[in-house]
Amino acid sequence: MRKILTFLLLMNCFWAVAQHKCATTEKMQEALNHEDAYKASIADLTELQRQFEAGEIANNTRDDGSIYTIPVVVHVVYYDEVNNISMEQIHSQIDVLNRDFNLRNADQSEIPAVFSEAKASVGFNFVLADKDPNGSFTTGVTRTKTTVQDIGDTEFYYKSLAGGIDPWPQPHYLNVWVCDIGGLVLGYSFLPATEKSKRDGIVMAPRAFGTIGTAVSPYNLGRTMVHETGHYFGLQHLWGSESGDCNHTDYMSDTPNQFGPNNGCKNFPTYSCPNEATGDMFMNYMDYATDGCMYLFTERQASFMRLVINTSRVSLQHSTALTSVQEIEVENKAVLYPNPASDLVHLEFLNQISDQVSLIDVRGVLIKTWRPKSKLEAIDMSDLDTGVYFVKTSSETLRLVVQ
Ligand SMILES: [Zn+2]
Repeated sequence: MRKILTFLLLMNCFWAVAQHKCATTEKMQEALNHEDAYKASIADLTELQRQFEAGEIANNTRDDGSIYTIPVVVHVVYYDEVNNISMEQIHSQIDVLNRDFNLRNADQSEIPAVFSEAKASVGFNFVLADKDPNGSFTTGVTRTKTTVQDIGDTEFYYKSLAGGIDPWPQPHYLNVWVCDIGGLVLGYSFLPATEKSKRDGIVMAPRAFGTIGTAVSPYNLGRTMVHETGHYFGLQHLWGSESGDCNHTDYMSDTPNQFGPNNGCKNFPTYSCPNEATGDMFMNYMDYATDGCMYLFTERQASFMRLVINTSRVSLQHSTALTSVQEIEVENKAVLYPNPASDLVHLEFLNQISDQVSLIDVRGVLIKTWRPKSKLEAIDMSDLDTGVYFVKTSSETLRLVVQ
């Protein structure tokens, strides 16, 4: 008990520090103030982090090489119509997650040599849910018009009766609310505990979500969401839970200690703590650099997130949110051609035939669903308007342009 009290006192102190880009620290504190079960349970995470740092956890719980599928629901909550963001913008963010969590980002070449060996693939694949909590088809996106301004800075965003929208069951879905937050905040997230916060999920400002549409430079490369997803899977900021000295740990032995956030785009090397020979790892996703200047998770960070998907977020592995929860290989399992298309497009399955295929327009409206009969399907596009569409199979979503 003494350990828990000490922990909570420390947290109270740490989370009072004002931050801008990411409000995880402050919003975590709000949740802990109001939710006793979450507050009691967050100590589990600290204990897990301590054991991880001390090397007390066996490798086989986290290093088996599996690719984990993470079902996502995106709740678009908009005050201004412009923030009713397109399906294409949502897909641009999912694409960035899948690229960066699997170490397929081209800018990893920018990683300084001294940190290069630490870079790692997390092995998570993010997929928009295709089943809602009732088991019905969904695009994995909900849309709610609200009369509450800056709803992301209130407690209303996760309450349908207050102008927001209730989360879908948090054990089975990564809930993401895209809504105005106000101020300089780009996003925030809730760290995982055995007992979930009622707010569990990620909140993102439209100006930092995805790579097109409402996304604004220098936060238009989708990296804020990568950072917040790191928190969702248990990662701390590089400076630990408090900025302002060089002694607080983020529990990761392969990230140098850091005095506080590095904003903008630093030159290597940058030193904030005199005892760290390598200087700061300011290009890590868990620092505060602008989107073009962050490009790595480390081996230990990847291992810890894989530990979390096997412990406090293990229910995501047994989710009912996807028609076919399966290990999804990085390479495509189906191809569309020609693309762009005008009247007829072919959908060819390279491995298995999908159980179901859906055609969705750019606003997320379902046009039709069918059960493919063969490995090569011809889809008639002649009735469709010109524009971007999505062809969703049970394992991936393909972008289709109709001319
Ligand atoms: Zn953060």
